[in-house]
Amino acid sequence: MTAPAEKTNLLGLPKAKLEAFFETLGEKRFRAQQVLQWIHQRGVDDFDQMTNMSVALRERLKEIAEIRGPEVVYDETSKDGTRKWVMRMDNGNNVETVLIPDGERGTLCVSSQIGCSLDCTFCSTGKRGFNRNLTAAEIIGQVWVARKAFMPYEPSSRPITNVVMMGMGEPLLNFDNVVDAMNLMMEDLAYGISKRRVTLSTSGVVPALDRLGEVTDVSLAISLHAPNDELRNQLVPLNKKYPISELLAATRRYLARLPDKRKATIEYTVIQGVNDKLEHAKELAVVLKGLPCKINLIPFNPFPESDFERPSMNATRRFQNALTEAGYVTTVRTPRGDDIDAACGQLVGRVEDRTKRSQRYIAVQQVNP
Ligand code: SAH
Ligand code: SF4
Repeated sequence: MTAPAEKTNLLGLPKAKLEAFFETLGEKRFRAQQVLQWIHQRGVDDFDQMTNMSVALRERLKEIAEIRGPEVVYDETSKDGTRKWVMRMDNGNNVETVLIPDGERGTLCVSSQIGCSLDCTFCSTGKRGFNRNLTAAEIIGQVWVARKAFMPYEPSSRPITNVVMMGMGEPLLNFDNVVDAMNLMMEDLAYGISKRRVTLSTSGVVPALDRLGEVTDVSLAISLHAPNDELRNQLVPLNKKYPISELLAATRRYLARLPDKRKATIEYTVIQGVNDKLEHAKELAVVLKGLPCKINLIPFNPFPESDFERPSMNATRRFQNALTEAGYVTTVRTPRGDDIDAACGQLVGRVEDRTKRSQRYIAVQQVNP
């Protein structure tokens, strides 16, 4: 007996791919527009609810396609309004997604991989090793689940105004799926988020960064964490392959291609006694000279197996002041959602331990302020 063909999950198809899908069915391309709206704006996963399509087409779609998002295993809102989901993906792995409301703004922090192969020494995702890439459906599925939490759909209500690819994983190592998912985030018929408000964060996969500039114009966050190669080699092993000068040159190239004037965000995780000295701040100010950027300082979030410590607020402020005096717009990321561990992502580990899925501590991640 032959196994039944796998159904196409329409959730992960950006407009062009959905149009191609309908064309292969002998249908008009505008079906794609209708389906995009049903799925992403109305949160519908049942073809029978798509009442502007014929019953025959709906029956056909049920046979060959599906709309399947991640399963929510945890959904909690912190006292400060930060909301966190743990979502179970196909092979039972959990991924976390965090929504941080801030006035009119709602920033959703999305994961791109299960684990990460790059092994930055201060990152618990890196410590956990790499499991697999998320599919485009699993990446956009995080936005879909979060958006559905605010149904019924009102065009005027915008609970998610910004998305940052800063959850688990290195987005540039899952290039095609991340690009498809980001296209859906920006698609007017789906989430309609401005390209300025979709941010890809990378530790610096230089060739992929150049490729990114050819296919999209989202905003960029560069995880720098050190002002010189000697120190960065220790914190971000990928630096041995793509040193700071190459990374910043690629960042300049990316910004230069954008049709508008935009700055990159330089992320700098401040670790006590490691990269938090005044001389580091001064060196950083020199290294970044001429790059259109703002700097975001992230006080290190400790986790059980890490050897590093969080810097004092004084040390962080001193660092910030030095950069501000040198002319850089510099912010300090404040911890949010502490009571539900949203700020440091310790939740996935706890949920998994409870269910005895894994003995390993999982996923510390950060979100943008
Ligand atoms: N892989 C990508 C995106 C995910 S990491 C990248 O590295 O940019 C998102 C951000 O969280 C990065 O800037 C990362 O350096 C930071 N981060 C990771 N672990 C951290 C920790 N324990 N404390 C503070 N920031 C951390
Ligand atoms: Fe991977 Fe980013 Fe963590 Fe480095 S900081 S290990 S690139 S997720």
